[in-house]
Formats: sequence, C-alpha cells, structure tokens
Amino acid sequence: MRSKHDETEAETFPVTKTEEDWRAALTPEAFRVLRQHGTERPGTSPLNAEKRAGTFTCAGCGTPLFDAATKFESGCGWPSFFAPLEGAVATQLDTSHMMRRIEVHCAQCGGHLGHVFPDGPQPTGLRFCMNGVAMGFAPEEA
Ligand SMILES: [Zn+2]
Repeated sequence: MRSKHDETEAETFPVTKTEEDWRAALTPEAFRVLRQHGTERPGTSPLNAEKRAGTFTCAGCGTPLFDAATKFESGCGWPSFFAPLEGAVATQLDTSHMMRRIEVHCAQCGGHLGHVFPDGPQPTGLRFCMNGVAMGFAPEEA
C-alpha cells in the first residue's frame, strides 16, 4: 500500500467531477459517505454478508478495490479486508473526532471509503474497515 500522508486537500485524482455531478451520480447515502467523509451505521450494509468470490468496487467510479478473498469477518459491523488490490486505494492521516486514524480513499476518484487499523489478521495485520455503501460488488463469473 502506498502512503500519501503528506498530501491533503491538494491531492488530485484521475476521476474528477463537480460536487453537483457527484450528487447526481450517487445515492444520497453514498454521496454522504464518499464525498463528505460520512460513515454508514454499523451492520446496515448488505455487503457485510457477501461471501461469494468476486471483486468489491468503488461506488463512485467503478474501480476494483478489494478481492473477496481478502475479506474477513471482523465483527465491527462494516465490510473488512486485510489487503486492497495493488494501487487501488490511498491513505491519509485523519485527526477528526479527537482520534488519530488512517483514512482510506479510492486512488482514482478520491472517494472516502473508510479507515485502516493495525489490528487485522495475517498476512498484513491490517483491517481495512470499509463503508459498504461506498462500494459495489461484482461476483466472479461461474
Ligand atoms: Zn473511486
């Protein structure tokens, strides 16, 4: 995973839209999470229970983000993964809510996905705690 802790608002992305266009393209809840750094209520995403082989994608731009093989049951109420696809996501330090967390966003469109914590399973020891509403799921062709 590449780290971009030094870059903040100046970071630019291959996929860019105006706020108005994002609002038109996304559901209200996806807009709130992806574009306004919102968090969905835990346990509400149907993707929590998704167990099929396939690929989790960015709800904003469709970029593949996580292979279902890296998903695990963390019990935290959000879809969790131990590793993203190569180059799919970027991170930055998030000091909001009186916490120091590592924010995770789509490397293509900058959409906020969730946070990553150092308490995941091997082989990475990382837990990518993602908002389900910020993602789509494409099942593997049988
Ligand atoms: Zn995206």
